[in-house]
Amino acid sequence: MLRPNLHYSELKDSYLFYNISKRVRAFLEEHPGERILRLGIGDVSLPLCSAVIKALHGAVDDQAYKSTFHGYMPECGAPFLRTAIGEHYRKRGINVSDSEVFVSSGASDELGDILDLFDRESAALITEPAYPAYVDANVMAGRRIVHLPSGEKDGFLPDPPGDGGADLIYICSPNNPTGAVYGREQLKRWVDHANKNGSVIIFDAAYEAFIEDPLLPRSIFEIDGAETCAVEICSLSKTAGFTGTRLGYTVIPESLVRCGMSLNSMWVRNRTTKTNGVSYIIQKGAAAVFTDEGQRQIRENIGVYKKNAKVLTEALDRLGIWYCGGKNAPYVWVKCPGGMDSWSFFDFLLNEGRIVGTPGAGFGGCGEGYFRLSSFGSPEDTEEAAERMMRLLK
Ligand code: PLP
Repeated sequence: MLRPNLHYSELKDSYLFYNISKRVRAFLEEHPGERILRLGIGDVSLPLCSAVIKALHGAVDDQAYKSTFHGYMPECGAPFLRTAIGEHYRKRGINVSDSEVFVSSGASDELGDILDLFDRESAALITEPAYPAYVDANVMAGRRIVHLPSGEKDGFLPDPPGDGGADLIYICSPNNPTGAVYGREQLKRWVDHANKNGSVIIFDAAYEAFIEDPLLPRSIFEIDGAETCAVEICSLSKTAGFTGTRLGYTVIPESLVRCGMSLNSMWVRNRTTKTNGVSYIIQKGAAAVFTDEGQRQIRENIGVYKKNAKVLTEALDRLGIWYCGGKNAPYVWVKCPGGMDSWSFFDFLLNEGRIVGTPGAGFGGCGEGYFRLSSFGSPEDTEEAAERMMRLLK
């Protein structure tokens, strides 16, 4: 009999979002018509900007005529988009060539697919609390996982462990769920650690556009030595509202070589085998994000979310509650007041404040006792949630 991939049976059921919606549903059945303020969402609430919409319409029209019609697209990305993304790096003084940029359908897809490049016997080190897909994708691949917990002492930004320990290293900065952002010196320590041990860093930069402090690195390739040990995975989901439109990009330097094999060439081979590229229409929409007009417009939208984050952090400041994130990131990571555990605080906020957030325990063991608030909701809901928290937690 055919044996399925038995590692799927090792996956822990993800109760987090299921449990949240179950508890909210039960609450609404008991309190019909109550207005719930949702600060738990990881999805955006603002529509695509007009530069993107115009480009999407134009691309749809292109598909109507023989002279401008596009069929299969190049598997690694349309040259016009690879160049636009490459330029986006080069404008910031980061040396990335177009052939090092790969266009994808989103960061989630890449975070799973990229594992094809690595031996299944290798170990994955995951800094936690973490975006749950890192653990699950590696469990599915049968890979050994080393969990590296973090906490208030290190500002939820752990340093590399003393010993080697792992081959693949996951770093997410700005972090989901903690909103913490690595500084240059800290990232340099990770880069040096990876180069010394021959490891590869998978750097998830899905929230890089939320960094406003010019001293904080938005790309791992701002750090010397990263070109020989890192892959960067990015997304337009939160940067430009592409959660439903779907587009991401991955940077694999040509100088990233292990056992004499170029990871960039391996990825070209992988993509040309396993994909037929991202749709022309979506790539045209994505290219508009990198124009001056597109950048100005997405900054306006990001500004709305950042204002929401400020409303939340100002309320927490006034309440004297410990938190991190929210300044260069869309998430605010809150210490549950009164020593409450994550789910007790969830129930308290839901029942007493009609506010829904995300219990930190869902992002790994060291998330227990913490709570994630998202700034992706509407300004009205966020303001009201902050006011309700002020009344409840005074
Ligand atoms: N990486 C992190 C840290 C995320 O939070 C998310 C989505 O929430 C993703 C990746 C997935 O992004 P995409 O929508 O491009 O698949």
